[in-house]
Parts: sequence; C-alpha cells; structure tokens
Amino acid sequence: MKLNELTIKEAQTGLREKKFTAVELTQACLDRIKERNKDLNAFITVCEESALVEAARADEMLAKGTDSPLTGIPFAVKDAICTAGVRSTGSAKILDNYTPPYDATVIKKIREQGGILIGKNNCDAFGHGASNENSMYGPVRNPHDLSKVSGGSSGGSAAAVADNMCIFAIAEDTGGSIRQPASFCGIVGMRPSYGRNSRFGIMPMASSYDTVGPMTKTVEDMAIVMSVIAGADKLDSTTVPEEVPNYESNLNLDLSGLRVGVPKEYFELDGLDKEVRELVEKQIKNLEKQGATIVDVSLPFTKYAMAVYYVLVPSEVSSNFGRLDGVRYGVRAEASNLFDVYANSREQGFPEEVKRRIMIGTYALSSGYYDAYYKKAQQVRTLICLDFDRVFSEVDVLVTPTSPYAAFELGAKSQDPIALYLADVFMSPAACAGIPGISVPVGKNKAGLPVGMQVMGPRLSEVLVMKVANKITQ
Ligand code: GLN
Repeated sequence: MKLNELTIKEAQTGLREKKFTAVELTQACLDRIKERNKDLNAFITVCEESALVEAARADEMLAKGTDSPLTGIPFAVKDAICTAGVRSTGSAKILDNYTPPYDATVIKKIREQGGILIGKNNCDAFGHGASNENSMYGPVRNPHDLSKVSGGSSGGSAAAVADNMCIFAIAEDTGGSIRQPASFCGIVGMRPSYGRNSRFGIMPMASSYDTVGPMTKTVEDMAIVMSVIAGADKLDSTTVPEEVPNYESNLNLDLSGLRVGVPKEYFELDGLDKEVRELVEKQIKNLEKQGATIVDVSLPFTKYAMAVYYVLVPSEVSSNFGRLDGVRYGVRAEASNLFDVYANSREQGFPEEVKRRIMIGTYALSSGYYDAYYKKAQQVRTLICLDFDRVFSEVDVLVTPTSPYAAFELGAKSQDPIALYLADVFMSPAACAGIPGISVPVGKNKAGLPVGMQVMGPRLSEVLVMKVANKITQ
C-alpha cells in the first residue's frame, strides 16, 4: 500500500513506529496530486514548499515526543475556508488574489497540532452548488469516472480524499456540501450540529446554516478529526459551550435496543433511483440483523425543506455578500466611478449562481415581499425543527439515502438551476434543523459509482451518529 493511501489512524501508527517520516508521507500525497490533479482539478492551490517545511517540523515533534493525534498528517482545505498565508479564493475570481492573514479556528487547531496543509480544494463558488460546476476555476471530475461530477459544493475535497491526494479534508456544509460529494466519491463526510465547530474564518454563505466538518476515508478518522476541531470558540458566538466528548474512544456500539427510524417521505420520492434505494435498504436490514429495531416514521414537513432552504439561504447570502464589493478584499475591476467599481467587480468576479442568489435573496428580504417569503419561510423552518424534535422522541437516529442518485454526467444539470437545487432534497431538512448528518458509503451501483447513506441524529448526537455509521459495512 502506498503511503498516501493510508487512513489517519494507519498514518498515525506508522509515524509513531518510525516506519516512515512525515516528509515521506507528505511527498507521497504531493506526488499523487502531481499525477492526478490535471485530470481531476481538485486543487486550486498546492502548498508544495510550505507543506514539506511543515512536514520536517512535524518530524521533529514526533522525534521529541511532543506530537498530537494529527501531527504529520497531510490534509486539504476547501477554498472557501481561510488559511493564513495561503491564497483562499472561495473558487470565485473576485477573491483570485486574496491571501488571508489568519487561519479559520478549525484550521488553526489542526495546524497547531502539526497537521500539514497540503493545498486548497476547488469547490462551487462560495459553496453555491451541488456539482462543483459553479467554480470559476473549472469543474472537478469524479475519480471513479472522469465523465461524472464529483458532487458539490465540496467536490474538490471529496475527490482529493477519494483519490488519495491527501489523508483527509476540511470542508463546509450549508445544505449538503459535505455529505453529497462524500456520497458521490465514496468517502465519509459529516455535517456536525450547528454550533459544534467554530465557523470563524469560514467565508460565510448563510450564517444560520453554515457548518464545518471533516471528509475522511473512515468513520474512525472522522472521530479523530472531530475530537481536534470541535468546541466553543470565543470568536464565534454561535458555538455551543457543551463539552467535547471523546469521539474516538469507543466507536463500538451494541445495536440491540437502538431504534432506527426510516422516514417514509425520503423513500417515496419519485426521483429516487432504484439501485440507490436497494443499496440503502440492504443496509437497513443489516442494522436490523445486528440488533437494531427498525421503526417507520414520518416527517411531514420534509417536503417544504427545499423551498425553505432556497428562500432563507439566498436571503442570508444577499446580506453576507455585501462585503464582496471590489473595495475591501480581492480583485477590483477597472471603472471610472464608485458605482461601476461595485458593479464591474461583481459582474466579473461572481459566477451566475452567486448573482442569482444575491438577487433572489434581495427580493425575498425587500419590504414588499418580506412577509410573504422570508418570514413565512422562517415559520416553516420552525415546523421542520419541531418535526425532528417529535420524531427523536420515537427513535434514536434516522437513516436515509444521502442523495436520490449517484454521480451524474458533467453538464447534465448545469443549465438548470432548479434541477441542481433538487439534488439537496435529502440533505436540506437536517440543515434547516441544525442537526448532524453523516454520509457513509454503502457500495457501488452497476456502473461502478459509489452510493452513500445518511445517518441523522438529534442536536449534538455526533457520537451516536458516528457509532451507527461505523456499523454500516459495504
Ligand atoms: N447544494 C447546496 C446549495 O447549493 C449546498 C450548499 C452547501 O452546503 N454549501 O446551496
């Protein structure tokens, strides 16, 4: 096995047993990036020099015995997350030249442990998308089939982990951007509860929805990274003060007595692919065989989640993106007056989808339409939260497909924004409610494309959600 193919756990052990060095491990990832990035386009920036310097430092920490769980482990970061001294574009030309002076809190925590930042991943611009085709740096291709999308918006991170260009990645999930590309590329991805991980230094998309989470090769690796990055942060007042459990200590769970809910609305969807349904149902049987009690449940407000999401998220986008005006950060377009500075910088610096969302959100927030759209959507969002509260008094976790289908052809939906919005159908409910959801691979369809299954739990139930996910075997 090549070094870049290792999991975090295996790499940790190998580094500590001195079977190889952090420099060798990092070099193996850099070599893989060199070989594959021209086909996949998973990285916008590769930190070749600084990664090797950081790796040498990690080797010193390991030699001195001052190492921590992520010392010497190469990781990649979605380009919509700020990294000190490393260009962070958000995959939009308006920030083409932007190098943040600080690390996002979650990145700082990993780098302080000696984790090695190997590069920045391509994504849909600022996280707007479900196929990675809204990037101004070109689409990311799926490592399992180059004619297919990698999913989005964290498609570059998913492809990088799946193709062994790094050992793990950190990405952002507003409405599915970690879970859906994880499912399309056959890896593990978790959206944690809202407020569990600090959002400080994440380029804000929709602040009441945004979460940061890991993308890994195994559930065990997910637990290792979560133990490092989770927790309250004085720089993000929406983080919760609850203590961070040791996610890693005991991932084994006796499933007897566990109530696993199967929400009928997710399985009745017209567009649910037959092979996806079969692979997920096989896993539900598998959980039952291991002792879980399967309970049919209903979440009647699920059907409104997409509509709620696509009113509230653009509203928050329209407000958050006021800061990107060509004056304060990034690229300033040529213009003879102030108005044109704003207009030209945004015209040239944003892709269509970002402009569309700013306009939809501005409309939904305008005084004439606020009550009809924004306020109504907030009210329905509360009903979606109450749906989950009720169902979690009946069951411990919920299982669903992550996406209604496996990865689709590049270009198949890129001309139809609504079709792309619908790709989030199984992921936006958890996003509206701020609960955790993890996607784990459950096998491949006949075309050889990975399929993912989602496990959701009540707020702050990441430990349970990971334990159940760990019982799912392909
Ligand atoms: N597909 C969703 C959207 O376009 C997901 C975004 C995200 O989670 N960042 O809004």
